[in-house]
Amino acid sequence: MGAAATPDQVDEVVSRLAEAGVHAHVTPGKDATVIGAIGERELLASLPLEGFPGVDQVLPILKPYKLVSREISPETTVVASRGRRIGDGYFGLIAGPCTVEYREQTLETARAVHAAGATMLRGGAFKPRTSPYTFQGLGVEALEILAEARDETGLPVVTELMDPRDVEAVLGTADVIQIGARNMQNFTLLAEVGRAEKPVLLKRGPSASVEELLMAAEYVVREGNQQVVLCERGIRTFERSTRYTLDIGAIPVLKTETHLPVIVDPSHAAGKRELVPALARAAVAAGADGIIVEAHPAPDEALCDGPQLIPTAEFEAFADEIRALASLMGKVIG
Ligand code: PEP
Ligand code: MN
Repeated sequence: MGAAATPDQVDEVVSRLAEAGVHAHVTPGKDATVIGAIGERELLASLPLEGFPGVDQVLPILKPYKLVSREISPETTVVASRGRRIGDGYFGLIAGPCTVEYREQTLETARAVHAAGATMLRGGAFKPRTSPYTFQGLGVEALEILAEARDETGLPVVTELMDPRDVEAVLGTADVIQIGARNMQNFTLLAEVGRAEKPVLLKRGPSASVEELLMAAEYVVREGNQQVVLCERGIRTFERSTRYTLDIGAIPVLKTETHLPVIVDPSHAAGKRELVPALARAAVAAGADGIIVEAHPAPDEALCDGPQLIPTAEFEAFADEIRALASLMGKVIG
């Protein structure tokens, strides 16, 4: 719509689209309102949209993803939870244990990362483990511990949902619902969180392309939930010196293609704690809107991902460095 289009003119276009069975997605902007019309190409072509009052231009969206594309929403989305923000200049520093193991371990980690300036607390209750013979997470008991950590620190809780059957339990505690790398293309799960009224942190699958990640996000946004953060966490390549290969290039690509905020998980990409700070710095320098990082009071005793966990005693120095770099990149801690 042109800059001078009135709200009535926007409503008129939306209702004409609806009458024709086309879904209209309205994004008000500073300069102009964009109406994303999603429906059958032939149907859309038959509507004389250019002639409607207030319409400035009609452009086809050639990309396979629509609602998550920058073409529909040129302004970057800010994802918010309990007053914390990620995106459009706000940098998210999400930290916490890989897994909630027991109360003191989680509370101690939460206190340490909070004191060091983290903006959200991560921690797995339901864990996707490669081997069925390893610790699978405390489940509902872990959610209670996370809620206690939130009550004490005020940090919003980010935790993974693996199974639609746990949606009620996880939504009861989580402030941000994590969809893990292994479930990136679990389309029923994506639609489920698309109907939730909480932000979603969607991790890139280890063998998924950037386009597939964006299509996965489209499944969530299509259901009505626009609060989605994308997360690059390393992809599977022939390289074995890191756990995964952090795809730094994906950050500027995603930032160009989508209005959704993009964060990076340097912990799972590195697999080794000594490499985590360098990958985190690279992420910030490449334009990431945040990082999600694993920390633990005693990594050698951890039940999951021990080698990549940053000891809480070292977390403050790590956070200081990231904050300085984020500020150099023109971002403020969200
Ligand atoms: C995690 O963040 O706890 C996790 C399991 O990561 P990913 O899904 O990226 O492997
Ligand atoms: Mn982990």
